[in-house]
Amino acid sequence: MPFSRRAFLKLGTAGAAAVGGSGITAAQERPDNKQIFTLEDLGLTDECFRGRREPIRWPNGARVALTWSVDHEDYNDAASVAQVHYHTYGGKAGIWRVLEVAAKHNVTLSAFVNGLTTQRYPEGIRALHEAGHEIIAHGWANNWQLHMVKPEEELTVIRRTLDTLRQVISAPVYGWMGPGWRTTSRTMEYIAQEGCTFSGDYPIDDLPFTLTLKNDRKMVVIPYIRESNDIRIHQFHRQSPSVWLDCFKDHWDVLYREAEKFPMMMNADVHSWAYGRPVGKQVIEDAIRYARGFSDVWWCTRKEIVDWWLQQNYS
Ligand SMILES: [Zn+2]
Repeated sequence: MPFSRRAFLKLGTAGAAAVGGSGITAAQERPDNKQIFTLEDLGLTDECFRGRREPIRWPNGARVALTWSVDHEDYNDAASVAQVHYHTYGGKAGIWRVLEVAAKHNVTLSAFVNGLTTQRYPEGIRALHEAGHEIIAHGWANNWQLHMVKPEEELTVIRRTLDTLRQVISAPVYGWMGPGWRTTSRTMEYIAQEGCTFSGDYPIDDLPFTLTLKNDRKMVVIPYIRESNDIRIHQFHRQSPSVWLDCFKDHWDVLYREAEKFPMMMNADVHSWAYGRPVGKQVIEDAIRYARGFSDVWWCTRKEIVDWWLQQNYS
């Protein structure tokens, strides 16, 4: 029987309403006032559920496209004092350590940056940009995810974030990823309208995929895969950094083997407020050295992947 996405979509019934005549299904209200979000509310369209494709090809026949990213984030005053303190470390201290490691190993980072972090620590953002790292917008504050924003305010939040980043670095910003990978049914259109060509949302595939927006505009999604993410290990699972390094290697080894026949993409990710601390530095360096030991790897930024993806007309 063919797969039917609608069969498991919990489409809103009694509480659901169309917004502004656009056919967008609003989040359903539960009796306790907590909202239930359908996949459509979160912007997961049929194109997101497309299955496996033919093998793609990377530049120079590389097996794996490898991006290194750093999340550079802050919590606003709706968070607890402890959370605000914990994340503040990234802007004050952590990012400088990450920059030092990247320079030492000649790695170009894709930096996911909150608007609030940019406003608080513009010098760190300028330093990232001036060192040649890629700046990607990552929402205003990390605890203010897009599905929590009133629909009529979402575009303002996106625009304010992008404007703040672009002003501080005096350069274009082409990428967006919502805090917590959260999107709404409006997000992709809004970020395209504001000049973005790629999104880091939807951690649902090993490879990028293309969404078709209104007026046939394209949005390339580069999934932000979480297996090699420091906060999964450090904060959620409370494991030592050596466990993160093991995860990185396990993930890498399998992808690299599979990529002989089916070229793959991998992103490795650390947070300035987590492994930007001394405890994480050694394993970041070890992971970089490990990946450097393999041939046919395309060390690249996300924008480089997007340019290639569109040039090849991959879906
Ligand atoms: Zn993040």
